[in-house]
Amino acid sequence: MAELKLSESRDLTRIERIGAHSHIRGLGLDSTLEPRAVSEGMVGQTSARKAAGVILQMIKEGKIAGRAVLLAGQPGTGKTAIAMGIAKSLGQETPFAMIAGSELFSLEMSKTEALMQAFRKAIGVRIKEETEVIEGEVVEVQIDRPAVSGAASKTGKLTLKTTEMETVYDLGAKMIEALGKEKVQSGDVIAIDKASGKITKLGRSFSRSRDYDAMGPQTKFLQCPDGELQKRKEVVHCVTLHEIDVINSRTQGFLALFTGDTGEIRAEVREQIDTKVAEWREEGKAEIVPGVLFIDENEMSPILVVATNRGITTIRGTNYKSPHGIPIDLLDRLLIISTQPYSEDEIRKILDIRCQEEDVEMSEEAKVLLTKIGVETSLRYAIHLITAAALACQKRKGKIVEMEDISRVYQLFLDVKRSTQYLMEYQNQYMF
Ligand code: ATP
Repeated sequence: MAELKLSESRDLTRIERIGAHSHIRGLGLDSTLEPRAVSEGMVGQTSARKAAGVILQMIKEGKIAGRAVLLAGQPGTGKTAIAMGIAKSLGQETPFAMIAGSELFSLEMSKTEALMQAFRKAIGVRIKEETEVIEGEVVEVQIDRPAVSGAASKTGKLTLKTTEMETVYDLGAKMIEALGKEKVQSGDVIAIDKASGKITKLGRSFSRSRDYDAMGPQTKFLQCPDGELQKRKEVVHCVTLHEIDVINSRTQGFLALFTGDTGEIRAEVREQIDTKVAEWREEGKAEIVPGVLFIDENEMSPILVVATNRGITTIRGTNYKSPHGIPIDLLDRLLIISTQPYSEDEIRKILDIRCQEEDVEMSEEAKVLLTKIGVETSLRYAIHLITAAALACQKRKGKIVEMEDISRVYQLFLDVKRSTQYLMEYQNQYMF
């Protein structure tokens, strides 16, 4: 590993933009750490959020070393949401890593490796880099399908759309990579095949009908920026140590990150990465961003937040019983926050926020029905139905999700209760 590979990791920030907790932007507290009723995507659960705020303060003041946090409460009461809220309040770039106990017992890697990966997922590195980018206005040329006959194709409609600065950056990087910077001039039109990502230069003599026909409907056309290729001094991006590990340990590292099929990472690779990151820190090129996962006094370590919905039960792997199935001596070192089930009104508000987050328009009656489903089944199930119902609505060419869409997907997808009932009825037909 002569040079650490980082450029590939730049795109990672966009992974999972609309995840289950993407609407959570913080803990929703005011400056005195009092929870606001609805704020930063958070609804209700005020005592737990207040307690989390105190912990947040302790983290910021560096007073939490040697302790961990346990969030205890029934399923779907927002434990993960609160942990995510803590991470977000520490800074938008603060990594938040989750690991389920069962993931440690994987066949693909040892327990220590699984834990190590989880730790490194929760440690971010903010890297400043000098990168060449194209600055200026990128124009996206959208071309409607021309009519079948050659003559009519000339009347095909041309729409011009300016894209955001971020796209300018990505496009600049892609063009330089694909074509070499001398070969691209301002005003050139390039074509990007959306399926393969292949970039072709069409030059200025771009003919709408000819090039469109040759390239097919999945092609996106872009006109190069007006400005010259410029050097932009500093580009800052944030990746986790785990992402750097994977990208540098596998030939197809970038793909492995998407599939999650990372395998074991050799200790030498990690050592080299740690040395390199330490060098960058010395040179002022990188900063460490501790995320949320677990506690240690070491400055390269994140904060541990454990969540449980187990009551008094056996400690896994033993015959002993204890509260939350956690050994008493560990429990004694945890700060415990408990979460409570939601009221109907709170469920409704959370569903409203999720509809906004997913850009789903839903009629009042549909929302009432979905809230009722949330109360009777679970909040998480009701949240899942939003996306599914929006698809059902799209399929019937509707714009607003109505009750019919909700009931259709309610029948299609079982919640836990109905699924269990189904299994009980038909259990003799399943394999054991
Ligand atoms: P489990 O014990 O089953 O793991 P949990 O307590 O961790 O559940 P979450 O996953 O946090 O529950 O909550 C379920 C869904 O509801 C998530 O999408 C979460 O973001 C959302 N949610 C939960 N509580 C709140 C809240 N107070 N405000 C806004 N959204 C919430």
